[in-house]
Amino acid sequence: MATDYYAVLGVRRDAGQDEIKKAFRRLARELHPDVNPDPKTQERFKEINAAYEVLSDPAKRQVYDLGGDPLSPNGGGGGAGGFGAGAAGFGFSDIMDAFFGAASGQRGPRSRTRRGQDAMIRLEITLEEAAFGTTKELQVDTAVTCTTCSGEGAAPGTSAQTCDMCRGKGEVSQVTRSFLGQVMTSRPCPQCQGFGTVVPTPCPECAGDGRVRARRTLTVKIPAGVDNGTRIQLAGEGEVGPGGGPAGDLYVEIAETSHPTFQRRGDDLHCTVTIPMTAAALGTQVPLQTLDGLEDVDIRPGTQSGQSIPLHGRGVTHLRGGGRGDLIVHVEVQTPTKLDPEQEDLLRRLSALRGEERPSGQFAPGQQGLFSRLKDAFNGR
Ligand SMILES: [Zn+2]
Ligand SMILES: [Zn+2]
Repeated sequence: MATDYYAVLGVRRDAGQDEIKKAFRRLARELHPDVNPDPKTQERFKEINAAYEVLSDPAKRQVYDLGGDPLSPNGGGGGAGGFGAGAAGFGFSDIMDAFFGAASGQRGPRSRTRRGQDAMIRLEITLEEAAFGTTKELQVDTAVTCTTCSGEGAAPGTSAQTCDMCRGKGEVSQVTRSFLGQVMTSRPCPQCQGFGTVVPTPCPECAGDGRVRARRTLTVKIPAGVDNGTRIQLAGEGEVGPGGGPAGDLYVEIAETSHPTFQRRGDDLHCTVTIPMTAAALGTQVPLQTLDGLEDVDIRPGTQSGQSIPLHGRGVTHLRGGGRGDLIVHVEVQTPTKLDPEQEDLLRRLSALRGEERPSGQFAPGQQGLFSRLKDAFNGR
């Protein structure tokens, strides 16, 4: 047998109808394509629908328990082909039950009103905006309720009418013969697609969908501390559902533009300052435009290349719980390359004074420079 329907729903082989229904509802809510559009999940959704179709129908379940597969065209076992309706015969009302919690066992027409889809929009912001938070105006194109028909889908002056094929029940029953005898199956009414009503004159504005696309402007508050990929949920600002159903949510995904000076890692900011050898030896102050304005970075005398200088609390605001990250300035010392005769003479005299004309050098294994740089970064020196 190809599929173990009991395992698919996670129920025991002797599970009662209530237990099967409960398991199916729980999975259907979790795996519904509107909630979870991932293709793998949709495959699972199809599987649980198939499993439920078989196990919720005592006749089909019996065939399955005897080793047949009621969903495969020749799987009836007896060759009568009485279950030819296959997956298409599955009542939509069962899925709708799972969502709207209709009383168990009660079947009927499905509602034209459904919840709308969630929508997502990307928003580019600068590092400064991410660090301190901001308010943005967003243009969104989504489905909104059609004003011509108020979401009903019927042209003004007309209304939906009870379907005469199913008499409003939304499903039609069919008696088929199989080796087990006569079996009654129900399927959604083909004339009204299971709605129980038909709209003879659809609204010309929305073609009967009950909604139209429109552009609106939304004001969104971006909290301080958001990062690339942060999603802000705006409840009820997504697509309005068919038939004037409630709107889904709108997600605003943050994309931070790169900054000319600072690189962000978590809530810390990093930059590199290049200073001449003499300044590193003698010490100096270098002006830096931080997020908070112009500040002097203090380079102490004897600063080495690769050393880093932290400016505490000058980074990005922590998204959860106040405080801010640090701004870390990495120092790179530049050795002069073009010396005129006078400069060269001065350096030779300095070297002689310090007894450094023939330095022996200090050798150590590996890349000490790189290592100490990493150490500095960890210790925040
Ligand atoms: Zn309309
Ligand atoms: Zn019908």
